[in-house]
Amino acid sequence: MIKVLKQTKIYSVGEVQTIALDNISFEIKKGEYVAIMGPSGSGKSTLMHILGILDMPTRGEYFLDGQRVSQLTEDESADIRNKKIGFIFQAFNLLPRTTAIQNVMLPMRYANVPIAKRFEKAKKFLEIVGLENRLDHNSNQLSGGQQQRVAIARGLAMDPAILLADEPTGNIASAQAEEVMNIFTKLNKEGHTIIMITHEPDIASHAKRIIHIRDGRIEKDEKL
Ligand code: ADP
Ligand code: MG
Repeated sequence: MIKVLKQTKIYSVGEVQTIALDNISFEIKKGEYVAIMGPSGSGKSTLMHILGILDMPTRGEYFLDGQRVSQLTEDESADIRNKKIGFIFQAFNLLPRTTAIQNVMLPMRYANVPIAKRFEKAKKFLEIVGLENRLDHNSNQLSGGQQQRVAIARGLAMDPAILLADEPTGNIASAQAEEVMNIFTKLNKEGHTIIMITHEPDIASHAKRIIHIRDGRIEKDEKL
């Protein structure tokens, strides 16, 4: 499903060049649950942006379902991103003063899903994350863990083939992190492909495979 081939990402800021990814190659198959683990600055977010087609590598290739991503136009990239990839970020990125259900419905509005269907699906996904009694709460009326669960429901809204999560438990308490991990395990059992970025070994241990990265290179690729 995902094939990354000899990818290098170099950032240039003034005179300073940073090699964020250094000739990295790996494959991820449909239905896998993979943690990408490494210390701060090891290139995790850079890799997530490339996997999510939010950024392009400086060198190397990325194939998503057999399509060569570098050959896509901007419109094609946006289309694939919307249809195939669900994003979950550390900072939740929910709209403030907007209810849980509206936040989950938003990506479907962009995709022109009919309104009745949007509501029905958003309700279903909020049930999956255990927030059926919080549909009409605004983001600021929810705990951090609940906000992250809304963000997961929103990530699921378009039935993405791949769920990409960048430090999904980075801003929440450990009991709530455990709930988020339980949801990921359940989603993976149902067949979702999950790629989760984290610097915490405890969190990574919920996955079935850990790709350890350091200084932009794969240090170890571990099956659990
Ligand atoms: P991580 O998510 O593992 O903490 P990042 O992928 O964010 O690591 O960053 C990897 C390296 O690339 C770091 O040294 C960081 O300073 C650098 N970097 C990340 N984004 C940029 C950017 N937009 N411009 C310049 N350097 C960047
Ligand atoms: Mg990061």
